[in-house]
Amino acid sequence: MVGRLHDRAGELTELGVHDMVGIGFGPSNLALAIAVEEHNAQVAPSAALRVTFLERQERFGWHRGMLLDGATMQVSYLKDLVTLRNPASDFSFVSYLHGQDRLVDFINHKTMFPLRHEFHDYLEWAASRLDHLVEYGSEVIDLRPVTRGSEIAFIDVVSRRGGDPERTEVRRARNVVIAAGLEPRTPDGIEITERIWHNHDLLDRVNAMPSTPRGRFLVVGAGQSAAEVTEYLHSNFPRAAVHTVFARYGFSPADDSSFANQIFDPTAVDDFFHASDEVRAMLLDYHRGTNYSVVDTDLIDELYRRVYQEKVRGVERLHMVRASRVTGLEDIPDGVRATIEFLPTGRRQTLDADVVVLATGYRSRDPWRLLGGMAAVYNADDAGRLRVRRDYRVITSAGTTAGIYIPGATEYAHGISSTLLSNVAVRAGELLRSTLDHADGHSSEHVDDTSATDEVTADAPALALG
Ligand code: NAP
Repeated sequence: MVGRLHDRAGELTELGVHDMVGIGFGPSNLALAIAVEEHNAQVAPSAALRVTFLERQERFGWHRGMLLDGATMQVSYLKDLVTLRNPASDFSFVSYLHGQDRLVDFINHKTMFPLRHEFHDYLEWAASRLDHLVEYGSEVIDLRPVTRGSEIAFIDVVSRRGGDPERTEVRRARNVVIAAGLEPRTPDGIEITERIWHNHDLLDRVNAMPSTPRGRFLVVGAGQSAAEVTEYLHSNFPRAAVHTVFARYGFSPADDSSFANQIFDPTAVDDFFHASDEVRAMLLDYHRGTNYSVVDTDLIDELYRRVYQEKVRGVERLHMVRASRVTGLEDIPDGVRATIEFLPTGRRQTLDADVVVLATGYRSRDPWRLLGGMAAVYNADDAGRLRVRRDYRVITSAGTTAGIYIPGATEYAHGISSTLLSNVAVRAGELLRSTLDHADGHSSEHVDDTSATDEVTADAPALALG
């Protein structure tokens, strides 16, 4: 039986139900795929879970545009795809190193933080071993509720393959796991153009560099991305000036001290989840400096060294434009004119650059946008966010037994590690356990939200399944 329905002219040719369809195949769903693969290896073939992951990209890739030479991971290699869940797994970073005949060399390197290139290669290696579970080049365009009797028991996941936009595929699933990753955040009112980039695409954009008559780059931001982009442009364009603009007085170091780092522990998720909104906000505020708008100390020192040495030599190419903000960007011939306000005095000046790189952060892709026809059975909290359980399952109206999970988009409920690698291994085990418990009817968290409607609206046509 094939779990895929071809839906050209609405015709359903073959029927099969997936236990799980994953949307996106980044590290979060890759870790989940490994958990499923390891589960399936331990159970009778008849009990094996049927899963498929749908990934829009044509091949595995994780922040390829920021795979800068020399950039290292900021999370320990032991927080790989599996180790915290199953230290004996052969999908670990250590197993990968062993397979590459590099384990002893890595040990001698005495670091916990591999190159991003190397970690990306590890992720690709793991993904390639799970090719049978993934459809690359598949973009999910709708989720449709499917009723059995009076309950929504399944979800039809409608996807489109890049090569043939006319042709949609439908997979019927008991559970859908949306892990669609992060998207670049740009300042309000600023459009991405040929000369205004987000750092997310840095390497692709550099490879198609427009003319650079002024030899000047402007970088916006004071986080790790801004610092890495600044260092990269300064190193790779040795005649160009780089001006980095931020509201802080100077780059601030990432708090990677041991006690503070416990905010990324799996148990911290429980503490955060069960806290009040006020306490959640307080904890996020206290520990922002472990992750947001902060920079690795070695890189801060390196950038300072460069600024100082240039001052000594009297040839200044690297400029920190502190306590400032960009108030406007305007196209000019072969460049961009930035208006920059110095916040202490309010004085404004303009600076013409060839290219502006916005290193202004990321946000989780909003799972609401992917719910499609399923949106009607979910409800939001006061801030308009999907209400979720500890197991990342979205709270539904009564009468819905099909599950949607949104790991990676719930910092508001599960804390600061939600969007990060730190917890993907343990979280994958929790997601798998939850889907198995629901299938067995052993879930401790029943769908019980009586405030939600159990109607499916006209916008969400329900497909009856006998
Ligand atoms: P980030 O930490 O969120 O920093 C964004 C920066 O942009 C902040 O300085 C922020 O300033 C500024 N900003 C935001 N909106 C702005 C606006 N409208 N106008 C001007 N400035 C604005 O983002 P990130 O540096 O991309 O880092 C994101 C995550 O990726 C972090 O977890 C980081 O560790 C990770 N990362 C890892 C690596 C690596 O592993 N080597 C490399 C890069 C990034 P304010 O603080 O003033 O708002």
